[in-house]
Amino acid sequence: MGAYGAGADRSGPPVVGIVGGGQLARMMVEAASRLGVDARVLARSEDEAARAVWPVVDDGDGADPLVLEAFSRSCDVLTFDHEGVDPEVVEALTRLGRRVHPGAAALRLCDKSMQRTELTMLGFPVPPFAVVRTVGEVVAFARAHGGWPIVAKSPRGGFDGRGVRMLDGEEQALVALALAGDAPLLLEPALAIERELAVLVARRPGGQRVVYPVVETFQHDGMCRSTMAPASIDPRLAAEATEIAVAIAELIDAVGVLAVELFVVDGAIIVNEIAPRPHNSGHWTIEGCATSQFENHLRAVLDWPLGAVTLRAPAVATVNIVGSAADPDPRTRLPLALTVDDAHVHLYGKTSRPGRKLGHVTTLGTEPGAALDTASRAVDALRRHAAPATDARVAS
Ligand code: ADP
Repeated sequence: MGAYGAGADRSGPPVVGIVGGGQLARMMVEAASRLGVDARVLARSEDEAARAVWPVVDDGDGADPLVLEAFSRSCDVLTFDHEGVDPEVVEALTRLGRRVHPGAAALRLCDKSMQRTELTMLGFPVPPFAVVRTVGEVVAFARAHGGWPIVAKSPRGGFDGRGVRMLDGEEQALVALALAGDAPLLLEPALAIERELAVLVARRPGGQRVVYPVVETFQHDGMCRSTMAPASIDPRLAAEATEIAVAIAELIDAVGVLAVELFVVDGAIIVNEIAPRPHNSGHWTIEGCATSQFENHLRAVLDWPLGAVTLRAPAVATVNIVGSAADPDPRTRLPLALTVDDAHVHLYGKTSRPGRKLGHVTTLGTEPGAALDTASRAVDALRRHAAPATDARVAS
């Protein structure tokens, strides 16, 4: 597999191994390319997004312990673009002397029920919750928390709202339990969420850290569709959100980027979820901050000095490009989006499928509404339903 021998014996610049070849890996290697960092990607399938932009890709599934161990030998430090790795395997690799960030403890917290339990024990505000396996427990939870609907979540493997279901009665509870199979369900009341925020912290092993400005995220069907940075919120709320994210990063000894997703309910902040990696809520940092989340993630896992996170504009809007059955592959309409001045278009090179994140557009502006409008116009231009932008460059 690797072009090198065991990591410890190698001379030359350190090699970062990225497990997973999705769009987060793609944006990490784009940052690596600019910095001149050596990186290797471990990608499962031919169509993973990082392959098209990076020459050093090993074929293999990081969920396979033997594949992961072999891959780790060709790298000085391992990191991930997803959480589908067994923390026990990561722990074993660490015992063998391999550097892995995030480590086993942070990866264990990717199980939402373990995460909730841990955050509660550490004293952070979280939604009321229960981890259940029977319909009786689901019904009892609904009764105890104001009745139906309630929210059921798969503790592992969910993303973009795919493991999240609104249950409006016993029948749906039975379906959700059946779909969960042997796994338990995490239950929460259906919250009246006023705003959703996220705070990204990048932290080195020794504790040096930077904290990105609080970003507001906007969802549709459980999936983040757009973000606005900085969030237009009361400075006291922003300070509290930042304080919570930093405290979590310190308490779990995070290394790399840690994303902390927050809800505002009744004017108060509660922690929804944490993710120990670059995050969709931080794509705006590529153009919007002095140092992107991807570059700071690489710097952090390498234990190198972190870059400044100063904003490059008063308002930075990002809109995700999500596949839909009605729209063509946005790559075929790229020139139309490029007619929108000040729109930074990122396509991940992925085949279009309904509900799949295919790219994003970021716009820097002086005012949030205008920035969001510009980014949305570029995204609309990539979709069939929108009126095509008229521009001589495209028409010719
Ligand atoms: P995922 O890990 O798939 O992103 P989340 O737990 O973050 O799942 O939930 C996705 C979205 O679903 C949230 O951003 C929020 O909009 C909505 N959601 C999650 N939990 C609740 C809840 N308890 N009440 C109301 N809406 C919720």
